Amino acid sequence: MARSFDEQLDAQLQQLHAEGLHRELRELTSAQGPHLQWEGKSLLNFSSNDYLGLANHSALKTAARDAVELYGTGSGASRLICGSLACHHELERTLAEFKQTEAALSFSSGYAAAIGTVGALAGKDDIVIIDRLVHASLVDAARLSGAQLRVFRHNDLEDLERILKWAADHRAKSSKADITSRSARILIITESVFSMDGDLAPLREIAALKDTYEAWLMVDEAHATGLYGRTCSGLVEEFNLTGRVEVQMATLGKALGAAGGAVCGSQNLIELLVNQARTFIFSTAPAPAAAAAATAAIRLLQTNEGRALRDRLWALLDHVKSGLISQGWELPPLRSAIVPLLIGSETKAMQLADALRERGVFIPGIRYPSVGRNEARLRLTVTAAHQREEVDRMLQHLTAACAEQLEADACA
Ligand SMILES: *Cc1c(COP(=O)(O)O)cnc(C)c1O
Repeated sequence: MARSFDEQLDAQLQQLHAEGLHRELRELTSAQGPHLQWEGKSLLNFSSNDYLGLANHSALKTAARDAVELYGTGSGASRLICGSLACHHELERTLAEFKQTEAALSFSSGYAAAIGTVGALAGKDDIVIIDRLVHASLVDAARLSGAQLRVFRHNDLEDLERILKWAADHRAKSSKADITSRSARILIITESVFSMDGDLAPLREIAALKDTYEAWLMVDEAHATGLYGRTCSGLVEEFNLTGRVEVQMATLGKALGAAGGAVCGSQNLIELLVNQARTFIFSTAPAPAAAAAATAAIRLLQTNEGRALRDRLWALLDHVKSGLISQGWELPPLRSAIVPLLIGSETKAMQLADALRERGVFIPGIRYPSVGRNEARLRLTVTAAHQREEVDRMLQHLTAACAEQLEADACA
């Protein structure tokens, strides 16, 4: 007889433990912020993507409460089924203005936005080209679309061009063979700020290549929205590429402190998504409170307070980075709110994270499959809500924990 369900799963879980890849949830009893309450213990938090400290900001909480009063807690159904709430339209108008696009569409998560959008734009006769380090949501989206998938080396323009040449060639041949069908689409997908490395994509050069080869470009601004550009809309704005990127994707749950995902672009793109994006059509609309909080966050970014939060974040990051460099860490030279402390071994990274947690500092260990095998790291994020003194305390604990681990030969 086959082994029982739980026995089989137990073997699988033991395997994860043996490889240092087992994960577990930690129950927190406090809001996101610089201090977390975890199992009765207070932890200094350097793990969150809430870069501007908006997830617990009074302006967002007020907007969420007002939305609950007006629209209740649930959206009832998909927006195509039971009517589309004004708070979603208001969010989308605000997003389109923010990103300077004709239109925008909100999704229940960034993950859902990725899956729905790529699936609506590309199918089995098309080609999707992704950077090797894009987020799992984009990898899954590309695979699920059924398009031919090609992967270029991280931020490597030559490798991207090599694949684009092949793709353009393939398109020319296939359209000659079958004049009745539309010609194959070529969709390039990258992130503007990479989620686990904190480095930036060469977006200007990628945009030039996609023009040359008549491809389309989709940029995931999950870790850039709220942080870059004159109006804080992202790196597409900072690089002056508004209007040249066909599909701009964002998450509302990171610097914007709410929850959900969004796609911004032309009126036709959004109309197509409303009709064809399965994660939009077959999913209950985001909760009114989340939509209203995201709208309030975008508005807050345009105020003096918003600008001050952003300045504060960059100043704290400079402080952290110089502290880390003086401890001997090698960091990417670029400006982003993500600071990867590369360790390599999964076990050693997790040991260092555990040692820090014992000391009351939470910096998560990140390992396969979030990053490649033997590319484990601590992923340190600072937010505008941290105090300089808290950052200094974290740096001291990191030095001490590393020194302890060095004795066990565990640290870089
Ligand atoms: C977090 C993230 C997503 C998914 O967004 P959610 O709203 O959390 O589902 C997509 N892309 C990148 C790069 C991300 O970091």
